[in-house]
Amino acid sequence: MDHRKQFVVRPGDKLSLAGIDPSYSGAHASGEAALPEIQRNVARMDELQALLYADGNQSLLVVLQALDAAGKDGVVRHLFSGMNPQGTRVFGFKQPSAEEAAHDFLWRAHQRTPAKGEVVVFNRSHYEDVLVVRVHNLVPKAVWSQRYAVINDFEKMLVQNGTRILKFFLHISPEEQLARFRQRLDDPARNWKISESDYSERELWTDYVTAYEEALSRTSTKDAPWYVIPANHKWFRNLAISQIIVDTMEGMGLQTPPTRVNLQEIAAKYHAAEAAQEKRSGKPGKRAAKA
Ligand code: AMP
Ligand code: MG
Repeated sequence: MDHRKQFVVRPGDKLSLAGIDPSYSGAHASGEAALPEIQRNVARMDELQALLYADGNQSLLVVLQALDAAGKDGVVRHLFSGMNPQGTRVFGFKQPSAEEAAHDFLWRAHQRTPAKGEVVVFNRSHYEDVLVVRVHNLVPKAVWSQRYAVINDFEKMLVQNGTRILKFFLHISPEEQLARFRQRLDDPARNWKISESDYSERELWTDYVTAYEEALSRTSTKDAPWYVIPANHKWFRNLAISQIIVDTMEGMGLQTPPTRVNLQEIAAKYHAAEAAQEKRSGKPGKRAAKA
């Protein structure tokens, strides 16, 4: 199953989240059954990240958006923790600092976009500026309503500069959110995650749905598509996202660059160094010992 085709918001379509089952879980009967496939994908993601880094001509930007407790942190932990920290970065976007708020809304996002060879994950993103900002009337409609077009131009520019952009909306039901809030309450190890705003934001669920539907409909493009990922089952969420990332990166035409040295000359230098080393230490080197 190509999860890209299955979950993409087709450019130009008007998204209705009510039409997408957040409990969908595909062909696997359980998380245990899906685990080997998830592990394979994660291992492949790590290989592809190393290749992206070696290739050095393109980059990958993964945007995670969702309501509270939908699993953004879980995606980062489960899917990206195996990637080499040299070449991978994760940014969490919080309420803008005074300095950030004094700039245009893309300023802080642009500073964190991936350099060539890098993978960057946005845990929340510039989309907050048409989501929380809209729902809470933090700026007038005349301001936020202009931002969709600005975001599309911004992302187009990144794409033209060699960045692949994948945007995931983690889709959970209100019931599942409440179940996760309950775990946060019951499990002392998770108490720290609770915030007052979890509950006040939950009251605004339908406003958020409206804001998300418009944002995803207006900014899903061929080069920077949105995917709505059924996320009531954490394992399915991990499976679908890892699969989409692997399929996308495999299609990027990544290649290890040709060597910049003359291998024959270097081999000759190596053997000379080895011979000198043996002479100094009086011990045969590895190759000589084997012979
Ligand atoms: P969390 O992801 O739970 O750490 O929460 C981060 C908080 O920062 C969320 O409530 C976001 O809605 C909020 N936030 C992120 N970006 C913005 C923004 N541009 N304007 C206002 N609030 C934001
Ligand atoms: Mg939160």
